[in-house]
Amino acid sequence: MSWTPHGKHLIAGEWVGGDATFTSEPAHGPAHSFSVGTVDLVDRACEAAEDAFWTYGYTTREERALFLEAIADEIEARADAITEIGSQESGLPTGRLQGERGRTTGQLRLFASHIRKGDYLDRRHDAALPDRQPAPRPEIMMVERPIGPVAVFGASNFPLAFSTAGGDTAAALAAGCPVVVKGHSAHPGTGEIVAEAVLAAIEKTGMPKGVFSLVQGGDRHVGAAVVQHPRIKAVGFTGSLGGGRALFDLCAQRPEPIPFFGELGSVNPMFLMPEAMKTRAEELGAGWAGSLTMGAGQFCTNPGISVVLDGADADRYTAAAKAALEATDPQTMLTDGIAKAYRDGKERFETRNSVRPVYTTPSEGRVANPNLYETTGDNYLQDHALGEEVFGPLGLIVRVGSVEEMVTLAKGFEGQLTTTIHMDAGDMADAAKLTPILERKAGRVLVNGFPTGVEVVDSMVHGGPYPASTNFGATSVGTMSIRRFVRPVSYQNFPKELLPEDLQ
Ligand code: NAP
Repeated sequence: MSWTPHGKHLIAGEWVGGDATFTSEPAHGPAHSFSVGTVDLVDRACEAAEDAFWTYGYTTREERALFLEAIADEIEARADAITEIGSQESGLPTGRLQGERGRTTGQLRLFASHIRKGDYLDRRHDAALPDRQPAPRPEIMMVERPIGPVAVFGASNFPLAFSTAGGDTAAALAAGCPVVVKGHSAHPGTGEIVAEAVLAAIEKTGMPKGVFSLVQGGDRHVGAAVVQHPRIKAVGFTGSLGGGRALFDLCAQRPEPIPFFGELGSVNPMFLMPEAMKTRAEELGAGWAGSLTMGAGQFCTNPGISVVLDGADADRYTAAAKAALEATDPQTMLTDGIAKAYRDGKERFETRNSVRPVYTTPSEGRVANPNLYETTGDNYLQDHALGEEVFGPLGLIVRVGSVEEMVTLAKGFEGQLTTTIHMDAGDMADAAKLTPILERKAGRVLVNGFPTGVEVVDSMVHGGPYPASTNFGATSVGTMSIRRFVRPVSYQNFPKELLPEDLQ
């Protein structure tokens, strides 16, 4: 192997080791030893981030844009080594890692161009009215300012794009906020090499060293200490509902509560309209199976549930999905823990009389095979557990008796990242009944597509009502995600010389 991790934390420009270590659990290739994170290291990283803020928070947008572009360049300079360690640790195929690297550098460059344009500053100006009666009005100007140090928790399923220098880090750095990353213990080596790229960019562009730190995990106290540190002003989190909720609660209980932007799980229901099913049930069934098994189903946007009208078209849909799942090869899951959780999720379905197995296959160790079940609308509504995310390639078909029952079912769904309608022109009236409900339930509503695959663009919303996220007003993907890390400040009657540069 051309690059071997040294297993240290990056604290404000210094690689720091420690006595306690944990060993990585790669899907293939050699395991490596990493220093366990400590509360003391978290403290050093957060204090350094606060110090750095007094410089970094006052850099120009151009300086930050150059920094973001330098990070992208440095990631590309380590391309093959990143792919190798990333694939070993996550089990994701080389092609997927290469694509994800492109997305990661693309996000960094997108934020560079976004802040150069400056629209996100939302600058406002109310001129003074000295002659206004009964009292004059002072001049008031407003601009969005960076909030201070931000903590970032990446997810196991996107070791690059939602991790060390992923979307949250890019958005925070773009806004002018130093970042403390809590490294994911599923991909510590990938985290380390990306941190190495960020450090090289810091040195190249002369940024303060405390602008970025990586504290590896290996101990759950590390994550708790990061979100509770008084210097941290917001948290960007991508991960499980259980982990996200625990950290969200800690943020709310702080003496100074802070926003916790948690992107959590989702079952992403799809509603298949009768005319579309009449004309293309087989195509839709096979397409669903493809989306369901992409990346071993380890996508937060995985469409786990299909809602269909019971009858012959539903039978054709089910048969096509089953045939496509049968032809799917076994896939490696991200961690032993996720593979076990997948088997436990399957067990939840196996032990229910209300659920009929359509296609079930055993999964062992870190390897997953797909599973398909079906149930009725009534059973689904009565059993809350059927609506909980199973992270992996498991699908549930819910058969209902009418479009009205579909509407009732839609109303019962919890918050989602996405909801989808598959429809033809003849389904317009039925789709119109569902749309107002689905847009209340999800951050993104789709017609005739599959939700896996999230475009990184200005108009993307990747979030949604709880439990899809902990903050329905925010997105973690796309340029709008910068809004999480800025806050509006009004400047009343300020001399020009004292205004932030973005207002001058
Ligand atoms: P995870 O197990 O929740 O881990 C995420 C991070 O949080 C890790 O750094 C983990 O630390 C830490 N953590 C979890 N629970 C904690 C606790 N109680 N105290 C302190 N730290 C804690 O999630 P994951 O397995 O990486 O990711 C899979 C999940 O993410 C799936 O549910 C998927 O749907 C969701 N996801 C959502 C999105 C989205 O955008 N909405 C995107 C991708 C994935 P350790 O390193 O110690 O484990």
